[in-house]
Amino acid sequence: MPPIYDKPTVDKYDLVMIGGGSGGSACSRRAASYGKKVAVIEMSGILGGTCVNVGCVPKKIMWHAADLQEKITQHAQGYHIKGDAAFPKFDWATFKPQRDAYIRKLNGIYANNFEKEGVEHHTGFGRLTSASTIEVTRPDGQKYTLNTDNICIATGGHPIIPSDEEIPGASLGIDSDGFFALEEQPKRVAVVGAGYIAVELAGVFNALGSETHLVIRGETVLRTFDPAIQQTLTPWMEHTGLKLHKSSKVVKVTGEKGKVLTVTTDKGESLEVDALVWAIGRKALTAGMGLEELGIKLDEKGDVVVDEYQNSTVKGVTAIGDVQGKALLTPVAIAAGRRLSNRLFGPAQYKDDKLSYEDIPTVVFSHPTIGTVGLTEPEARKKYGDTVKIYKTSFRSLYFSMIDEEHKEPSMFKLVCVGPEERVVGIHIIGQGSDEMLQGFAVAVKMKARKKDLDDTVAIHPTSAEELVTLR
Ligand code: FAD
Ligand code: NDP
Repeated sequence: MPPIYDKPTVDKYDLVMIGGGSGGSACSRRAASYGKKVAVIEMSGILGGTCVNVGCVPKKIMWHAADLQEKITQHAQGYHIKGDAAFPKFDWATFKPQRDAYIRKLNGIYANNFEKEGVEHHTGFGRLTSASTIEVTRPDGQKYTLNTDNICIATGGHPIIPSDEEIPGASLGIDSDGFFALEEQPKRVAVVGAGYIAVELAGVFNALGSETHLVIRGETVLRTFDPAIQQTLTPWMEHTGLKLHKSSKVVKVTGEKGKVLTVTTDKGESLEVDALVWAIGRKALTAGMGLEELGIKLDEKGDVVVDEYQNSTVKGVTAIGDVQGKALLTPVAIAAGRRLSNRLFGPAQYKDDKLSYEDIPTVVFSHPTIGTVGLTEPEARKKYGDTVKIYKTSFRSLYFSMIDEEHKEPSMFKLVCVGPEERVVGIHIIGQGSDEMLQGFAVAVKMKARKKDLDDTVAIHPTSAEELVTLR
């Protein structure tokens, strides 16, 4: 087993990282690769953070299970995959331990990488006592101090649940962390929220056969996404049997956690469910870390304010990843962390290295998946006015040609172009395979491709992706 440190091993570290998640691990390993002495303080005792333990990884595994279940129950027959046996059904209770075991394996890989690369893993809660000293409170309550000229805050965030004062009984619900702790599949579930997590978790429940209610404040899900995405996904979710409660707010929850709950909305609806999942956003984890006492500025949401080089308002203290509030995505935390270490400790060519937060591609693992990069149409119109030109198509992928009408998923691909050269400033796609399709097109947007560059690229046939290079 790789060691976990419980005291300093040197008088002064080159870098002390608080948080051993996506950003913290990437930044510290890059610093160590330059021969620097690095300590990572992680309070949970395990490495990998949100993404590995209660985020991207177990979520994507659950999405695969849901996707497979849909293919078996809804698509296989269309391809004459027949048999007398009843369709196989997902078994949550036996699958969860297998999923957990895989996550534990990843935790071990993170720990081994730290050991191999000379990054010290300290278990405890990190609190700044000055801009160059960090107090570590170990799980047994003992404290010690690490000294350094470079502190990096990579503490991520936590899910928000309304207080019982705001919504009586709100604490009877669980959050996305609780979703991953569920030992059994709830037969009936209510999910509250309209963002990434609500859409993804409600999609998984629904595809796996739970009676799924999604309570949203507006008329569509993913309201920050391009309108064409919202307008394609929202009715399709309803079509697949998910019960969408629009323009609705939860006002009361009663019942017993783990048993039956009654969720009441401001429209007077009462939903009887076995679980309630809040997915209404996340908040930066900064409490008790002594940040504001030292003059480290937090914004009104509680995120650490940083400049384009990830510097906080106090010299020698930087912040990366979710805790700085911009683009809460694992690859963003990783990329910012690696660039920060390049700039602080790398060769001269990296002295100005920083992450550009423009044109970050992102995927929502809905059913079907969504890919989006760059400006939405409203954002582009606000910025570029009448020079915006839209190219858009809606179609059914060839895969669905053999599948009955009810289960033919929609696809919608949209290009947002600007100026006489028709530079592509936004790509928004929804439909089977969008998650795997977007990465390459995001390169094109980053390289400031024009519509003509896409047109000049010969299509790959028969695929859905070819639609993006043949739009008229
Ligand atoms: P984290 O990974 O959250 O790591 C922070 C670490 O700091 C934690 O381990 C925490 O225990 C530790 N910590 C906090 N405070 C202290 C302290 N004072 N002392 C010591 N340790 C401390 N992103 C994607 O790109 N793709 C996805 O598909 C995706 N799916 C997601 C699904 C869900 C359900 C959720 C919740 C998130 C998802 N994300 C996804 C977002 C992604 O997980 C985060 O953007 C990413 O983990 C942020 O990395 P981080 O290093 O900033 O923080
Ligand atoms: P989001 O910010 O994406 O969405 C939360 C949504 O919940 C809001 O957009 C809002 O939608 C709704 N909401 C907010 N407050 C309330 C309230 N009081 N009552 C009811 N609804 C409310 O947060 P998530 O928690 O879904 O995800 C956090 C972040 O994690 C994401 O932004 C993303 O960056 C990352 N993530 C990435 C994933 C991926 O890459 N695939 C997957 C999961 C998470 P409205 O205003 O319409 O009501």
